[in-house]
Amino acid sequence: MSRANNFSAGPAILPVEVLEETSKAVKDFGGLGMSIMEMSHRSKEYDAVFVETQNDALKLMGLSPVDYTVLFLGGGASLQFLMIPYNFLSGSADYANTGAWSKKAIKEAQWVGNCNVVATSEDTTFNYIPKNIRWNADADYAHFTTNNTIYGTRWLELPEVGDVPLIADMSSDIYSREIDFSKFSLIYAGAQKNMGPAGVTMVVIKNEFFETKATGKAPTMLNYKTHIDKGSMFNTPPTLPVYIVGRTFKWIMRQGGLAAIQEMNEQKAALLYDYIDANTDFYRGTVGDKNDRSIMNVTWNLPTAELEAKFVAEAKARYNMTNLKGHRSVGGCRASIYNACPRSSVEALVSFMEEFMKDNK
Ligand SMILES: *Cc1c(COP(=O)(O)O)cnc(C)c1O
Repeated sequence: MSRANNFSAGPAILPVEVLEETSKAVKDFGGLGMSIMEMSHRSKEYDAVFVETQNDALKLMGLSPVDYTVLFLGGGASLQFLMIPYNFLSGSADYANTGAWSKKAIKEAQWVGNCNVVATSEDTTFNYIPKNIRWNADADYAHFTTNNTIYGTRWLELPEVGDVPLIADMSSDIYSREIDFSKFSLIYAGAQKNMGPAGVTMVVIKNEFFETKATGKAPTMLNYKTHIDKGSMFNTPPTLPVYIVGRTFKWIMRQGGLAAIQEMNEQKAALLYDYIDANTDFYRGTVGDKNDRSIMNVTWNLPTAELEAKFVAEAKARYNMTNLKGHRSVGGCRASIYNACPRSSVEALVSFMEEFMKDNK
């Protein structure tokens, strides 16, 4: 199988082993004479897949199923922007505005109730993570985006919010590094960046947080209670995407878990950042503070927009490197190097960058 050097921000590259397992299961699952897609979500065989995936989600986070519940929902991370305030915002909530996705989350919270934007980096096109933030001690919860997919920044340290329940959108860096997941009351992530295909969103809720803080006011499908009470099977879950997420979890475990994954991700990111930093007269990283730099989405500029377009086109034509164009809202270049992106693709990119600089400087 010939593979592209795929730097897509999402839907994104998946491990080949996961694709191979999935292609088998799409034809026949476990010798049952039917595809994983053709089975009842209530069959005992599918239920086993589903529950194991929920358990593995927590195992990778070092969390216990006694304390946390895992939901697999539709609607993308974007629906969580609304479900969270619907279920937990009664007084006021704190939000950090660190990028386009944070902003969308804030918009939905404002629609529901009182939302305090306690920090923002919008003044400089979100090219840093705000520091020394004063979170409100009486907020219903504090919300932030762990990794800013479009701007190439990430929170190195978790925000210090005291006893306020912490909520994070981890769509673009979940399972990319070791984090103290026990600090969170709710974590959510669309699958299509680092876990699987589009079509499923994972929500991990701390039971105690839900039991003590839920407003109980949301309509049926937007109410976490509906999904918690029915083991995330109130209605038909996205069965194939959940299966694929489950295979990705096993793949992460085979790599050695999050510590090993983090090590590989940091090395891949360093290849790119070190090269950019050594060639600042041609390539300019967009994120100033090195601690703020994402290890999932690496962003940089070339001297002109024309050169950037040429760079993207030649990378594709010469080496089948795809999706190196920055997000349409910011331009420039971006390489998304999620867990499944092999080191060889990053090495190929660095050597192309050198080639391109020699030809065009
Ligand atoms: C991609 C992305 C989203 C949007 O996810 P959908 O599943 O398309 O709604 C939200 N937050 C972050 C950080 C993302 O990278």
